[in-house]
Amino acid sequence: MKAVFIERNGGPEVLSYGDLNPPVPKLGEVLIKLSYASLNHVDIWVRRGLGGYKTDFPHILGADGAGTIEGLGPAVEGLREGTSVVIYPLITDRNCRFCLNGREDQCVNRKLLGNQVDGTYAQYVVVPAYNVIPLEGLEEETAAAVPVTFMTAWNALINRAKIQPYESVLIWGASGGLGSAAVQIAKMAGATVIATAGSEEKVKFVEKLGADYVINYSEEDVVQRVMDITAGQGVNCVFENVGAATWEKSIRCLSPTGRLITPGATTGKDVSLDVRDLYSRQISLIGSYGGRKFDLLNVISAIKRGKVRPYITEVLPLSQVQKAHERMENGEVKGKLLLKID
Ligand SMILES: [Zn+2]
Repeated sequence: MKAVFIERNGGPEVLSYGDLNPPVPKLGEVLIKLSYASLNHVDIWVRRGLGGYKTDFPHILGADGAGTIEGLGPAVEGLREGTSVVIYPLITDRNCRFCLNGREDQCVNRKLLGNQVDGTYAQYVVVPAYNVIPLEGLEEETAAAVPVTFMTAWNALINRAKIQPYESVLIWGASGGLGSAAVQIAKMAGATVIATAGSEEKVKFVEKLGADYVINYSEEDVVQRVMDITAGQGVNCVFENVGAATWEKSIRCLSPTGRLITPGATTGKDVSLDVRDLYSRQISLIGSYGGRKFDLLNVISAIKRGKVRPYITEVLPLSQVQKAHERMENGEVKGKLLLKID
């Protein structure tokens, strides 16, 4: 099968497009013929070998994908060949104390598709039957752009930060895949959304997503603008996925008793914290990682009801994956970039 794989860590040049043997579904597994994969920042971390993402080589990247069921391993029930599906990308044991407590996103045997196991940058992928979600009307092209970003934003804002309709939320980097999902989910939850973007073009894109206010962080003082918009109070919640570059400003933008929710750190992991901010203003710092299958099902339901949707701004053939990674690393992608797999 055609696949994009890496045989060492490094820049976009380590991405090879070539032939590998197709995987074979084992007990309880499903073989999927992929039609689309989509890019996520985690793909870049895995490619670079950063952040403790361990892989064996050759390794196929890609956490997001949709396609049709091509084959069933032994003991798979309730699924049929030819069914259009999207993949829930966290592979879990469904049996540890976190899974049993409804928190499979913290499974002690958690594996991310395209990270600890081969992923979706290929014509075929094998996943446990549990990870397969029939689309029932949703297009594969749309579905492939959804899982990682939308379930991450959903888990962070709805489950972890518990945003409320009477609250205000600041969302950094709102033009990206995760940020654009977060803006829509926060709006869906009824919150007032203040978003940031780094250019006039991206500001216009984020306005289309439904943000109430959009701040161009390359030209404006974000903290000052947030304070102006909130009459000096600050926001109830900051959705922070940038890390080092924005952390200190995020803390300053929070109102007393506000909470900072972070599911990522694209610019760096080392941040500083004046602990007096934490106790004197009673601020909460909340971490979030991925999401549960239940969250992804809720996202798909919200998409079908027209409440949120992925904004696919570019589609490239799988063979042009190097260009796709370069564009993402350079911050040139608005919304989602898809890889089309023939
Ligand atoms: Zn588990």
